[in-house]
Amino acid sequence: MRRMMMRAMLGAACLGLGVGAEAAEKLKVLIIEGQNNHSWETTTPILKEALEKSGRFEASVARTPPAKAPASAWDSFRPEFKAFDVVLTNYNGEPWPAPVREALEGYVAGGGGLVVMHAANNAFPEWPAYNEMIGLGWRDAAFGDRVTVDDSGNVVRTPRGDGPGSGHGPRHAYTVDVRNAEHPITKGLPSKWTHAVDELYHGQRGPARNMEVLATAFSDEAQGGTGTNEPLLWTVAFGEGRVAVNVMGHAWGDDVGPIEAPDFRALIVRAAEWAATGAVTVPVPDDFPTVAK
Ligand code: ZN
Repeated sequence: MRRMMMRAMLGAACLGLGVGAEAAEKLKVLIIEGQNNHSWETTTPILKEALEKSGRFEASVARTPPAKAPASAWDSFRPEFKAFDVVLTNYNGEPWPAPVREALEGYVAGGGGLVVMHAANNAFPEWPAYNEMIGLGWRDAAFGDRVTVDDSGNVVRTPRGDGPGSGHGPRHAYTVDVRNAEHPITKGLPSKWTHAVDELYHGQRGPARNMEVLATAFSDEAQGGTGTNEPLLWTVAFGEGRVAVNVMGHAWGDDVGPIEAPDFRALIVRAAEWAATGAVTVPVPDDFPTVAK
């Protein structure tokens, strides 16, 4: 009896160790904030909470100096990207110092993960490697190619200079269509669902190399759109690294509805896990939306 009790206690001790080991294996994510034409002050805490609540991540935040800070203020902004499994950028502002740009390029090319949300793809048009990493950014039509998806699901490439540049109509609720249900980020999600009232980006431009479209939305001309299916969620292979871009998630001031939307939160977590590891283990949450009737 006593021996059995001892065994049970040992078992419990082992379990305890197991839990500890699991906690230590949490993926480390670094969120970058500090300048944005959107309210990073209210959105970063939501992103951090979503990532940590998933149980899969330990989140840290790196803040840049504010806009128009003296150059010396940037000397202390040297995020140690390599200490993290994935970097999530919520930044759209002044160019980073060359050592930071080079560090991010090296980190992603060497196998690091990068997640880019909403206006973070508006950033850094003058940084060639960033344009490669994001595939498509908020740029004018002359900047680069455009990628859309036709109603048969075929990817359509429009050359630089043809068609619209970047924009969006008034915010509205729209249907998101999954275009690759086998990718780890989208596997197990509904094939289509209704997203919150949000901006629907169109006419994104860039080199669009090594890029795969995972989800689109129909950009209705009646809503100031383009009359075709615009990419909202895509991946880019950059060197050994994985990049995921999600252009949903507009937020201003206390209006953070699109960021708090269960689908956006779930996609951030799934994109971050995939960018970090190449796989997604977090379950699809019960509150993930379907198509509104
Ligand atoms: Zn926006």
